[in-house]
Amino acid sequence: MIPLMDIRRQHQTLKKDIAKAVDHVLESSRFVLGEHVEALESEIAKTCGTSYAVAVNSGTDALFLSLRALGIGKGDEVITSPYTFFATVEAIIQTGAQPVLVDIDPQTYNLDPNQVEQSITDNTKAILPVHLFGCPADLTALRSIAQQYQLKMVEDACQAIGARFAGKGVGSWGDTGCFSFYPTKNLGGSGDGGMIVTSDPELMEEIRLLRSHGSYKKYHHCRFAYNSRLDEIQAAILRVKNQYLPSWNQKRRTLAQRYNQAFQKLPLKPQWIPSEAESVYHLYIVRTSQAEALNNWLTQSGIGCGIYYPLPLHHQKAWTDQYPVPDLPQAESVANTTLALPLFPEMTESEQETVIQAVTRFFDKGESHHATIY
Ligand SMILES: *Cc1c(COP(=O)(O)O)cnc(C)c1O
Repeated sequence: MIPLMDIRRQHQTLKKDIAKAVDHVLESSRFVLGEHVEALESEIAKTCGTSYAVAVNSGTDALFLSLRALGIGKGDEVITSPYTFFATVEAIIQTGAQPVLVDIDPQTYNLDPNQVEQSITDNTKAILPVHLFGCPADLTALRSIAQQYQLKMVEDACQAIGARFAGKGVGSWGDTGCFSFYPTKNLGGSGDGGMIVTSDPELMEEIRLLRSHGSYKKYHHCRFAYNSRLDEIQAAILRVKNQYLPSWNQKRRTLAQRYNQAFQKLPLKPQWIPSEAESVYHLYIVRTSQAEALNNWLTQSGIGCGIYYPLPLHHQKAWTDQYPVPDLPQAESVANTTLALPLFPEMTESEQETVIQAVTRFFDKGESHHATIY
């Protein structure tokens, strides 16, 4: 059996350090907004190349609080991708704004900047690009559109911590960048967690108020806000893991290169990573018209794989109950033809070889005759 991902293996190697870090917090009995949260904030800001970072309790809240802090709400439109995890659009809805779904590039699966520009109206207030599967969206193009039309930009970098575009860290391109520490993310905690990075001091102050009851001084409140803080225990665990993030991301890239080479002659196409983009391969995705048959074949061979995401946002019941269904042909086609293959930093070469052989055999046994090359 080869799993799609295996977060237990990571824990085995870090067990002692994590136990020590947790014990340290328990002994100190400082559980909320203490030294570990503060230190993690500086460490993540440094990774991204921003002046500040504010820890919050999930990636979803990182998105929501960013939009709130930027003053986005009822009557505003926010442009985003239909091909992402559901939370991206939930964060927009929670502010009272209207999400506007714009089609994706069929090779990178990220927002298509040309279509973004065509979808701007007088009500558009922000662009919310997603760096899907760890690959940065076209940030040069999107930022220049945002500047030209005076729009805010919030990056959903929940799957892309440590990724870069044109040499600059994701999260540092937008007004804010949002990260998730959900356990299966590249930097995953032992529960929920998130982070907002920004280089705007006023925005940073506003987000700090919003995450903790609008409190500027103990028991003094200048906003009706939220409780969205990261726990000290969580931050302490994340700091242990964060030391390994660069080497884990490097390992992911090495594994991805190896898959890319092995699949060159097969009728399947890996997610296209543009030359300016440095992906952190949160997932390794291939596209083939035989995705469903390949999924069954690999599952029967004991190889974990997954479909991300089987149903684009505009076909989710929550969406269709409330909104008309926009015509987004690329998102539909990609959702029907992509498959994630096993990739995680602790994966062994021999495990990867087994996956490569199983994929190759699938196409050798005749499936390649049916396959469309995208
Ligand atoms: C994980 C994820 C989120 C939400 O993060 P949570 O920490 O689970 O709230 C948002 N957007 C994307 C693209 C994600 O992958």
